[in-house]
Amino acid sequence: MATAGKVIKCRAAVAWEPNAPLMMEEIEVAPPQEGEIRIKVVATGVCHTDLYHLFEGKDKRGFPTVLGHEGAGVVESVGPGVTDFKPGDKVIPLFLSQCGECKFCKCPKTNMCDCSWSSNYHDIMSDPTTRFTCRGQPILQFMGTSTFSEYTVINQIAVAKIVDDAPLDRVCLLGCGIATGYGAAVNTAGVTPGSVCAVFGLGAVGLAAVMGCKNAGASRIFAVDINEQKFEKAKVFGATDFLNPKAYDKPISEVLAELTNGGVDFSLECVGNPEVSRAALESCIKGWGVSVLVGYTDVDFSARPIQLISGKTWKGTLLGGYKIKDSLPKLVNDYMTGKIMVDEFITHKMDLEQINDAINLMKTGQCIRCILNISK
Ligand code: NAD
Ligand code: ZN
Repeated sequence: MATAGKVIKCRAAVAWEPNAPLMMEEIEVAPPQEGEIRIKVVATGVCHTDLYHLFEGKDKRGFPTVLGHEGAGVVESVGPGVTDFKPGDKVIPLFLSQCGECKFCKCPKTNMCDCSWSSNYHDIMSDPTTRFTCRGQPILQFMGTSTFSEYTVINQIAVAKIVDDAPLDRVCLLGCGIATGYGAAVNTAGVTPGSVCAVFGLGAVGLAAVMGCKNAGASRIFAVDINEQKFEKAKVFGATDFLNPKAYDKPISEVLAELTNGGVDFSLECVGNPEVSRAALESCIKGWGVSVLVGYTDVDFSARPIQLISGKTWKGTLLGGYKIKDSLPKLVNDYMTGKIMVDEFITHKMDLEQINDAINLMKTGQCIRCILNISK
């Protein structure tokens, strides 16, 4: 490639500060260094976690940055020491790495690689430097991925290679939302055949959790959301019952207990709200109920000890528990062979320039996933 080894100037949506619209800018993207890959991003989804960092998080550091962590693209060039990737490979950049060497990667119980952005909170690469500059300033790489840019650079331990015929403007969603919700049900909760489940929050993450419950053989799946417009989609993914907590004058956990003779076997919180987390736990049946936290918030949450003393399990999941570099190519294959749905999550398509409209659609609950065309 003519650009290999050179700085690339390209378009990116920069978040200069919290609570402000993103600005389209020309940024400089440095060549990949040892072990790194420079990727031409083709398409990206917008996930609530991007909105969380921009509007909701308590930690206002981490700006200026390029957001976006649900993208797919093509390798433009590779740095020294990279042997598993070559220019032209189709890839998904990941916000969770799999180095294969740390004690977490070597343990089958977890996907929490020690080299991840999530372990050291640099907001950038797997080391505290960034490959992006704009107007003479370093720009952070949010979650290490920064897919709201035509080019990005990422360590090879956080890149998954996928098959050449995968449609990048769809499988990009497997890089976060779908893998997260689906894996939360099939891996973290371990939903069993014949079980009764409840999914709180019906964005892409929650709908993917519904799909996971269905594919794991659940007999009844309650879809819970305060936005009733989400119920129709939830049906497509396999939900059997629909509840709006605002339509009842008693806690939703009591409503569920009455409808299920004591509570659900599995509940999944896909909102990112401490009150909903508590409600999801309280909705589980005593003795064996399992509740999984999927939604993200940096606010404390609480529950009465009796909820756990009575034999329930409360757990959480990052990226659906998948050892992601190994698992993503398999998920892409599951999509290509019809085992899991992806297209059904896509409600809007736009160009990168319309990023603020896409953010607004999600903020106001009008879309499930908007796919942004980054480069043709
Ligand atoms: P989204 O905004 O598209 O969906 C959230 C849904 O929750 C909406 O349908 C909304 O109407 C509903 N909701 C809001 N308040 C509610 C309430 N009180 N009761 C019931 N439903 C309510 O978001 P998304 O992209 O699907 O992401 C969902 C959550 O998952 C976010 O918190 C996001 O940060 C988190 N997330 C976590 C991981 C992870 O690895 N754990 C990965 C991706 C996203
Ligand atoms: Zn996400």
